[in-house]
Amino acid sequence: MTRKMLQFTRLDQKQPDKRAATARKGDFGEISLAFDLDRAGDQASRCEQCGIPFCQIGCPLGNNIPDWLMLNAQGRMEEAYAMSAATNTFPEICGRICPQDRLCEGKCVLEQSTHEAVTIGAIEKHVTEFAFAQGWVHPPRPHKELAQSIGIIGGGPGGLAAAEALRKKGYQVTVYDRHDRMGGLLIYGIPGFKLEKSVVERRTQLLAQAGIKLETGIHVGVDVSLAELRDRHDAVLIATGVYKGRELGIKGDKLPGIHAALDYLITQNKVGLGDSVAAYDDGTLNAKGKDVVVIGGGDTAMDCVRTAIRQGAKSVKCLYRRDRANMPGSQREVAHAEEEGVEFVWMAAPTEVLGTDKVSGVKSVRMHLGVADASGRQAPEPIDGSDFELKADMVIKALGFDPEDMHSLFGEKRLDVTRWGTLVMDERTHMTTLDGVFAAGDIVRGASLVVWAIKDGRDAALSIDRYIKAKSRIAAE
Ligand code: FAD
Ligand code: SF4
Ligand code: SF4
Repeated sequence: MTRKMLQFTRLDQKQPDKRAATARKGDFGEISLAFDLDRAGDQASRCEQCGIPFCQIGCPLGNNIPDWLMLNAQGRMEEAYAMSAATNTFPEICGRICPQDRLCEGKCVLEQSTHEAVTIGAIEKHVTEFAFAQGWVHPPRPHKELAQSIGIIGGGPGGLAAAEALRKKGYQVTVYDRHDRMGGLLIYGIPGFKLEKSVVERRTQLLAQAGIKLETGIHVGVDVSLAELRDRHDAVLIATGVYKGRELGIKGDKLPGIHAALDYLITQNKVGLGDSVAAYDDGTLNAKGKDVVVIGGGDTAMDCVRTAIRQGAKSVKCLYRRDRANMPGSQREVAHAEEEGVEFVWMAAPTEVLGTDKVSGVKSVRMHLGVADASGRQAPEPIDGSDFELKADMVIKALGFDPEDMHSLFGEKRLDVTRWGTLVMDERTHMTTLDGVFAAGDIVRGASLVVWAIKDGRDAALSIDRYIKAKSRIAAE
């Protein structure tokens, strides 16, 4: 079926239906239902086909959004898929977990003109899922095999996007990851209710079928050194992400019952994938029947509170020092959490974790927003005498992540880092301060987004290709 475009005056925005909160609280399945063919086509036909598509500017990958919306509206699904896959390595993943309200959809002119944005993310997911169902998605096949090999440290979205792009060009690619599964935070950080793990594993299988060697359980810097990988490969890409969770730094913050957000989320994801995890089985990292307090206001905190609800916690509270409007997490995720029964304690900060041999509560103080700093953000300040206590037998720290110490991990002093511990790289070439060693994703940007890691991985792959070709030319002269 073909449709005319510019239907936004006739058709309202309709995001895919969500499962009811009562049903979705009982499992870790995705909460959004899929679009059917008709609704996706109708929603795509709302697009104005702007001459200057602001949606595309808001997408880190510069996706050709108006073009694949039009192809979808016209029922030309195979072309829509090809167009979408040309700029995005994992469109069905971005369609699910990009914070579209801050990216493509936030910039859509329909959103700006109060008609509500085109549902770009949901349509991107629909187009690729339709392509998978039709058998149109194949492993990348190189036109010719090249002798040179690339070693990629880290099998998250940054590393895997680079691996796919390099393999397409014919390079021999090996990805090393210290976990027992590939995917990085896609597999072990982000919970199944946002991104089902079968979606990630389907992609990993395609990469393996393409001939990319996926070496799990290899901790670079421990099992093999960076120097050895540089000897083994013609170029190396570091895409190791950021994993050092920030500490509370208050009295009682080492009591049993306090956990780092990632330890908690990784455990649940492993259990969901069918693994047996002792810390879950013995109740340490299981919120069932507990009063849980999660400290932080970002997307990781939202993932923790919603995981605790699904594990059957008695109560779940999220403690954040700013207000709702000033939290870093997505408003959509806060709304989902509230629907599922999470209680938000805004404008409050912890001052002490209470308990003798284990956590029994969190002492907190009310905050108000003070004078704005140079960035324009108001600093939260405590209100004297406003102390209060929250009951808790499990406290989860979700305060953000910093990079691990790159120098002690890789034993290479010439690998320069910024004052935040992220890797220094040349913006143009993606090369670090070590010849032939490139970097991509969170280890360069600090904790960021999947779509940015994909963009970095794709860009780094182009630079690595140029570097290897230039080296071959010089060797031939
Ligand atoms: P990662 O995904 O972190 O992958 C790095 C990989 O490197 C890991 O597999 C790690 O095991 C491996 N590694 C590290 N060191 C070594 C070593 N020395 N040797 C071998 N392997 C190593 N972004 C979104 O866009 N949407 C979301 O909804 C979202 N939700 C999130 C929820 C949580 C809980 C978290 C923590 C992050 C979330 N993010 C989200 C952010 C997003 O996941 C990251 O920005 C993205 O995964 C970064 O990709 P990366 O490839 O740089 O690193
Ligand atoms: Fe939007 Fe993300 Fe897709 Fe870009 S990749 S169009 S930002 S959902
Ligand atoms: Fe279509 Fe919105 Fe993009 Fe304009 S900004 S091309 S209306 S999706």
